[in-house]
Amino acid sequence: MKYLVTSALPYANAPLHLGHVLEIVQTDAWVRHKNLTKDEALYFCASDTHGTPIMLKAKDMGVEPEELIEEIHANHKNTFEKFNINLANFHSTHSEENKKLSAEIFKSAQDKGYIHKKSISQLYDEKEEIFLADRFIKGSCPICKEEDQYGDACEKCGSTYDALDLINPISVLSNSEPVIKESEHYFFELNKLSKFLKSNIKKISKQDPIKSKLNEWLDEELKDWDVSRDAPYFGFNIPGEENKFIYVWMDAPVGYLASIENWTKSFQINFNDLINDQNTKLVHFIGKDIVYFHLLFWPAMLKTAEIESLDEVFVHGFLTIEGMKMSKSKGNFILADKALDYAPADYYRYYLSSKLNTDISDIDFSLDDFIQKINSDLIGKYINIGSRTQNFLVKLNESKIVANSLKKSHEFEDTYKEIISQIDAREYSKALRNIMMLADKVNAYVSTEEPWNKAKNGMEKECLEVCSESLNVFKDLTILLQSFMPEITSEVLSMLNLDKLNYSDLGSDNIESVQKFKPFITRLEKTNFEGILD
Ligand SMILES: [Zn+2]
Repeated sequence: MKYLVTSALPYANAPLHLGHVLEIVQTDAWVRHKNLTKDEALYFCASDTHGTPIMLKAKDMGVEPEELIEEIHANHKNTFEKFNINLANFHSTHSEENKKLSAEIFKSAQDKGYIHKKSISQLYDEKEEIFLADRFIKGSCPICKEEDQYGDACEKCGSTYDALDLINPISVLSNSEPVIKESEHYFFELNKLSKFLKSNIKKISKQDPIKSKLNEWLDEELKDWDVSRDAPYFGFNIPGEENKFIYVWMDAPVGYLASIENWTKSFQINFNDLINDQNTKLVHFIGKDIVYFHLLFWPAMLKTAEIESLDEVFVHGFLTIEGMKMSKSKGNFILADKALDYAPADYYRYYLSSKLNTDISDIDFSLDDFIQKINSDLIGKYINIGSRTQNFLVKLNESKIVANSLKKSHEFEDTYKEIISQIDAREYSKALRNIMMLADKVNAYVSTEEPWNKAKNGMEKECLEVCSESLNVFKDLTILLQSFMPEITSEVLSMLNLDKLNYSDLGSDNIESVQKFKPFITRLEKTNFEGILD
């Protein structure tokens, strides 16, 4: 199988934060894991670049939107690299490939009768000469009368409503009172695909809470989806229109395909052949806030475009910090790049992975828990195996391992298999708990056998056997940890004079000699984290 895997496209108006890191680490670990099996996986992402917020931000900064998105694109790419995310391609939705594919998909839906035009009334800012998106209108809630609420929903009573129903609406852009103006929009008739979408749920979602949410939505009549926006708008023109644009949420998921198509060009691969190949599976990792777009709109678009490779949309919960939603005003906002000033990428990768599973509940980053987990698991358990055993081989056996010391390794084989299937099912927390359970067992074995006493008491052969047994498991655990901590595991493998290994190397006699143990990873101290939450 060839898996084409994506994470949600980050919006190109601000740097990435720790919530983005959660998702890209989850995705990257799965892609790396697949590449340790007989399957192949490639990770694609892109900048999400269109829409009103980017247009207005660029205007505020006095630059063209192209300039803003290019700068943020470079910034995001750099952050991906710093977290050791192994991307096949990081493209942009503002690209030739996306323009062509978006137009094709739009046309295809239109030709098949899924898109129709309809005149609608909207709030319009005459000063700024722009139709106002819900986020750019404020007024009093039509239900509870609370002031200063946005055009789509009330934060006080939780009601959702039409912006036209807002009491005393004001444009956030000019502080003026908007007028009501008519305009023709293009609508995608989602409900026409309701039957297909219902039958498709089981195929593309394996998570129960997601499946029931989708069924709940599909049991009601699906509303037509407004897929056009009037000028001024930063995006792609609707085919055959001068002043109307494709809504950013329609061209954004097409950006997944555009990133793949752009990549194929460097390898002389035919994009259509690849995407329509029976052995190609498209897998998306997303947060639970964009389920509607990815599990209703996107499959509907793909259906009308006759693309059948969508295999699964995998959903995770939000990242909270110290139990609270991340927010600048609450002072618990952690930018991705800034996090790396305090600890190496692999530490975050390990910690976040240790909390991830198939559940869609929120995942909390707590500083005390982070420090405790890294010190206890990585230093106290995992690395400890090498630090207690490696140097006996160096001192007493010219660095050589005792051949075929695989009793322990074979004893654990069933658990290795279980761990691999847990990673495959994205039950990372269970997989990592099992890995640490095995590390505990090896450490207990070393403590019982006391190789240091054996060395002192003339039992060198026995000492070397215990160390060799332990190091083979250490190597196996390193193989299983590779997807989560690419940097630390590659250091460990090089201490064991090995290159990258895959799952077929588990339980095999591939270490010949080892290097002197170097304590290359360090404990975390709370005092070094001052300022991380500012
Ligand atoms: Zn209200």
